[in-house]
Amino acid sequence: MASGAIVTGQEARTVAFSAIDRVTRDLVGTARKIYAEPEVGFRERKTSALVARSLRTLGLTVEEGIAHTGLKAVYDFGRPGPRIAVICELDSLRVPSHPGADQETGAAHACGHHTQVGMLLGVASALVQPELRNMLSGSVAFIATPAEEFIDVSERLEMRNAGLLQFLSGKQEMMRLGAFDDVDMAMMVHTASGDGSPRITVGGTSNAHIVHHVRFIGRSAHAGGAPDRGINALQAAMLAINAINTQRETLQEQHVARIHGIITRGGSAVNAIPDNVVYEGRVRAMSPDALTDVNDKVLRCYRAGALGVGADVEITSIPGYLSMQNNLDMQAAFARNAETVVGRSHVRSSDDAESRGGSTDMGDLSTVMPAIHPYTSAATGTSHGPDYVIADYDLAVVAPAKIMAATAIDMLSNDAAEARRVLSNYKPVMSRSQYLATQQERFETELFRGQ
Ligand SMILES: [Zn+2]
Ligand SMILES: [Zn+2]
Repeated sequence: MASGAIVTGQEARTVAFSAIDRVTRDLVGTARKIYAEPEVGFRERKTSALVARSLRTLGLTVEEGIAHTGLKAVYDFGRPGPRIAVICELDSLRVPSHPGADQETGAAHACGHHTQVGMLLGVASALVQPELRNMLSGSVAFIATPAEEFIDVSERLEMRNAGLLQFLSGKQEMMRLGAFDDVDMAMMVHTASGDGSPRITVGGTSNAHIVHHVRFIGRSAHAGGAPDRGINALQAAMLAINAINTQRETLQEQHVARIHGIITRGGSAVNAIPDNVVYEGRVRAMSPDALTDVNDKVLRCYRAGALGVGADVEITSIPGYLSMQNNLDMQAAFARNAETVVGRSHVRSSDDAESRGGSTDMGDLSTVMPAIHPYTSAATGTSHGPDYVIADYDLAVVAPAKIMAATAIDMLSNDAAEARRVLSNYKPVMSRSQYLATQQERFETELFRGQ
């Protein structure tokens, strides 16, 4: 980069960081407010409205109601150039035992997404500073996405059947609706559990996954008077789960395979043989081949459960997430800025082949555009557990906002030379239309008759 560009970058960073410092209390306040009113995926109405209001206060025009609760606001610097998306996830999880849980719904921010809203508003506050209009090119899109946690599968399938959704996750659905069509690259930061000292981690990957909605169909009968006349769908489900457990010794460690699920409907009345039992299942692995292999075994086990009891089983396979592929050029810029903000010794890099075991729909986005998904160790406790809480809001909200603002500045200063370089180096895993077609094809329903 020419020295003029470095000066511009430094000046712009100073402007951006001061802007964030001025609103720190508001950013943290907003994150805490969202923590106190958790909402699960595709129902984040209050959360979404709050983000929209805050972005409007900054003078931005907000497009609301994308994939129900998603939203998008574009800020153009007035000169042509690439568009970078800064993303936040709106949804909570359901962990009724979490201290921040909604008593009625069990919704709780046990994954720290509420802090991402604070981050996004921080980046927006920084980049809309009038001084930056003369320094940067291209544009930035602030995008809030619904439903990253792939939960409530039955309800979301009902929404799909009613034509209200096609994909069951927020980013997938927003991609389908074209909300990312005019975006060239994307970044977000997720919280992680730490040991009290600041740590920003870049790199690594996530598991791909497939989601199953499995309905075991039996026949109801009096559980005391005529159990022999019934076909017990709950026994079929339990047999399937046991069959799945027999497969665990065949899983290979390097694939980081995970198989897990919950029974969301176990029967209707204790004195009737259950005739309709629903299991929401998930299969994860790092590579597509490993995922297919594990998935085939699990499908076999569902059928085995049904066959053993003489029940039927309806298996709906739902496209889950693809593995995260962090863009190394963007990641290098992000890591440099992280070193400036939290100090060199607090920035770590994970191996590209290291999967944390979980999955994210940021992985889907990363197959069609350069994207990064780093972590800030601002939480304590176990992710998705009742003890997962944010211990350091400065590290959870303010530091990542500064790092992302500085990364956007690096990309878009000097006629957006760095963003253009990132894009010219980048080869998507698949085109955007290929992505949508591939994911659509993964929807499949099978009815296996064991009766
Ligand atoms: Zn989560
Ligand atoms: Zn999360």
